Amino acid sequence: MRIDCPFCGERDYSEFAYLGDADCPRPAPGAEDALQRFIDAVYLRENPAGAHRELWYHEFGCRSWVRVTRDTRTHEILEVRLAGEDAGP
Ligand SMILES: [Zn+2]
Repeated sequence: MRIDCPFCGERDYSEFAYLGDADCPRPAPGAEDALQRFIDAVYLRENPAGAHRELWYHEFGCRSWVRVTRDTRTHEILEVRLAGEDAGP
């Protein structure tokens, strides 16, 4: 699988670290139910068949966080953006 980093260009996925679902809300650490919400976020994830937005870190490159939209059935990369960019149309 190849990921087209906005800064470095197309690179092998082994240069990146996978964080997981880009749309998974992380609980505020000080929230009253933070522990249960954190457990839910870590262990009760969706496992979609099709397009999935994920966070990847270009660990052996520019060290940028990128948001990758990947088809989980084919591993086709549909879109790559910097993690801080608006999802846009
Ligand atoms: Zn990069």
